Amino acid sequence: MADHNLPTPEPDSPALKNLNLKRNYHFSTQCVTIDSPDAGHKDQHGASSVPIYQSATFKGVGGEYDYSRSGNPTRTHLEHHLAKISGARHAFAVSSGMAALDVITRMLKPGDEVVAGDDLYGGTNRLLTYLKVHGGVKVHHVDTTDPTTLLPLLGPGTAMVLLESPTNPLLKIADLQKIAADVKERAPQAVIVVDNTMMSPYLQRPLEHGADIVYDSATKYLSGHHDLMAGVIVCNKDDLAKQMAFVINASGNALTPFDSFLLLRGTKTLAIRMDRQQSTAMSVASYLDQLGFKVNYPGLANHPGREIHERIANGPGAVLSFTTGDTALSERIVGATRLWGISVSFGAVNSLISMPCVMSHASIDPKVRKERGLPEDLIRLCVGIEDPADLLADLETALLEAGAIKEEDVTNGIGISRILPGGARDTVVSRAVEKLKFESNSDSLGLERDQRRKELLVSAPGKVILFGEHAVVHGVTAIAAAVDLRCYGHTTPLPAGQLRLTFPFDELDHFDQTWVIDKDLPWDAVPTSVPTPDVLDAKLLGAIQQSLLHHDQNETPARARAVSAAQVFLYIYMILASPENRPSLHLTVRSTLPLGAGLGSSASYSTCVASSLLLKTGHISVSTLSHSISSEDAEEVNRWAFTGEKILHGNPSGVDNSVAVFGGALAFTRSGFGRQGGMEKIQGFQSVRFLLTDSRVSRNTKKLVEGVALKKAQEPELVDGVLRSIQEISDRAKASLADPALSRAGLFTELEHLIEKNHDHLVVLGVSHPVLEDIRAKTREPHGLRTKLTGAGGGGCAVTLVPDAFQESALQDVQKSLIEAGYKPYTTSVGGTGLGVLWPTESEAAGPDSPIATPPQTPHSEQLPAAGIDLKTVLATGSDEDLADRISRAGKWIFV
Ligand code: PLP
Repeated sequence: MADHNLPTPEPDSPALKNLNLKRNYHFSTQCVTIDSPDAGHKDQHGASSVPIYQSATFKGVGGEYDYSRSGNPTRTHLEHHLAKISGARHAFAVSSGMAALDVITRMLKPGDEVVAGDDLYGGTNRLLTYLKVHGGVKVHHVDTTDPTTLLPLLGPGTAMVLLESPTNPLLKIADLQKIAADVKERAPQAVIVVDNTMMSPYLQRPLEHGADIVYDSATKYLSGHHDLMAGVIVCNKDDLAKQMAFVINASGNALTPFDSFLLLRGTKTLAIRMDRQQSTAMSVASYLDQLGFKVNYPGLANHPGREIHERIANGPGAVLSFTTGDTALSERIVGATRLWGISVSFGAVNSLISMPCVMSHASIDPKVRKERGLPEDLIRLCVGIEDPADLLADLETALLEAGAIKEEDVTNGIGISRILPGGARDTVVSRAVEKLKFESNSDSLGLERDQRRKELLVSAPGKVILFGEHAVVHGVTAIAAAVDLRCYGHTTPLPAGQLRLTFPFDELDHFDQTWVIDKDLPWDAVPTSVPTPDVLDAKLLGAIQQSLLHHDQNETPARARAVSAAQVFLYIYMILASPENRPSLHLTVRSTLPLGAGLGSSASYSTCVASSLLLKTGHISVSTLSHSISSEDAEEVNRWAFTGEKILHGNPSGVDNSVAVFGGALAFTRSGFGRQGGMEKIQGFQSVRFLLTDSRVSRNTKKLVEGVALKKAQEPELVDGVLRSIQEISDRAKASLADPALSRAGLFTELEHLIEKNHDHLVVLGVSHPVLEDIRAKTREPHGLRTKLTGAGGGGCAVTLVPDAFQESALQDVQKSLIEAGYKPYTTSVGGTGLGVLWPTESEAAGPDSPIATPPQTPHSEQLPAAGIDLKTVLATGSDEDLADRISRAGKWIFV
């Protein structure tokens, strides 16, 4: 078998070699730049198009190729190219999309469980049914538009999760990122597989969202001309790649040399074809939408999954579907088109029209189709590269001929109106007015107002700084990532005029205080114009500190933390509330993060406070239409969370709150210092396991930060040198973490080196501590793990890299020795979700301060085991370990 570990080599072309910019090329450039997998593949005659090695066998013994089933040079070029444009370490080309799924599902054993979507491609359903009947595999179909429907099914028996987004043909959107995070948490052994055919790697790269294996029917967009059948599988994990390479060789379904050549040629024009197809698809979708048809297309503003799709993909694609209300009418429309070819499949340069229920999805039992909400009158349009005007004209003629629309006089000339089933007319104009009325009455205004009265639960993750702490304050890039330990904020209404804050746990002194809003709070100190969150209003903060929440010389550290945290709550509340809008509420906060340990507990707390208060005062909202938090609202939460951080830390870097709000992994640089600052999400972040060890020695971040600033003033040359070196470390870490061409082993070697180096620099800056050095020593010997302090240092936490290959039993030994020494280790993976809001459930009937009584009445609510869950009790009781799990059963979480 050929080596499937495909490093990205230097470009072939001398001009490109000189530029050496390959990693930064845009997608369309990468498509046409076909590199040799390695020097051995250089064509002897310098052919500029990869030749077809139409040979079943190769002469000689011990050469790279012997038999084309196991490896063929044309296919190797193709696989290398596919890996590159997919941002993957491994790629395989097989004989069809179904062959790809067949290779993947050969991992399943009798008794294994598969969780899959309920709007899958018909052939996928057919194969899953075969495996169910003949392979003893249990298959669950769920509505993947709601990630919570998967939760009850994820467990130790789950072997595979199979997703499509957008689905074909209903264009339903699954939050791949969220589902992948849930699967990793609840069924880490399960392989997450995504069928990416509808998008192609140009528009969506699910490996970046946590998928383990992604496959495409390359018969579609990747080849683009409907002149070949092919399937492509990509993945980053070596072990999965090995298993699949074995199956492909054993079963003999690898792509033939000639088809490999054709597919390689097709991929060169992928981006340019898709751009044209997508832009015409948008015009067609808008046209049908304006006519009042129910159109499924994630590019339309009314698509329920639009915001999620925009987060995970780079465009809505070129497939859409719509219903007419009448199957016979749909059949007439399809039959009346001339330019749109009646055909199954999609992704070709020619436009196609079909009725899935009688064509591509006919293999699904009609009863099952009905159960899964697949309308019999559904028409699917797959848009090609023809002139958009011709396509629209042909469609309009077909609609007119079929009797779906009628030319008639509307106010300003000849217009088109839709004829409703039964003969009634629906003009474009009246339909638009009707739509507007509906939206303003029910959705945007009414529900948002209701939402403010209801109980609310928010949560935000802590963070770990992998590289660049302290240096970030001085303009150096820091690399930070969300951890899977979180803070939760629960708000319930109170009788009018009261405000209450509760921290039900030890580390915050079991703080519980109630204020009479109009009487107790120092409203006179509130500035007349609302200050921006970036500037702290000293007068207001001073008034809160003096009259309500002052620090006391004899207070315990727990009390001191609680008082500062409560100051954040009152400060943000008093600025966001207006004399006409001072909501009475009770906020209860609980954190599963160790406090004051450098894991961003204060930022996740500030994020919970800021988001709860912004939502309760109506400054931001969760969209009732798309069930999402807009990026502007997330930014607003981030700005107020930064205010909280300022109150707590004086001069925060802004990293912690950004990670708490946005999740994932970020490279963060402060502005100023002669360069433009900013935050950059690390795309394609390779998730890595860490051991976090809380030294249980608390420290004063503010003092440590000031200490470094003082050192910089006293020894500028030394400190500036250290800062420059830390910048190099961050740059290298950022590049390595996102580099698909780097092997896992290579990544760990690189990270280990950077960890050592960064820690040594932090020692020079004077922020280490004997306990941190002790943790380093305990993790280093005898297992050779690398550890650095994380966060402010001076106590707090240390972070230890756990390579994939590190033995579980050895990890347990390390943890045992740390616990024996009085430290608290946590194993965690980094890079998960940011701010989450539990979708408000119907608790209108519930009185003030009462728990959420009824779970949401979605079609899936019966799958949520904890109906009527009392969140207040859940937050106040039970262990930290299963808190996330208990809370997740209370409803639907929406994440930034
Ligand atoms: N996945 C999707 C979404 C499809 O639409 C198809 C084919 O239509 C397939 C997989 C199967 O691919 P192939 O026909 O290349 O076997």
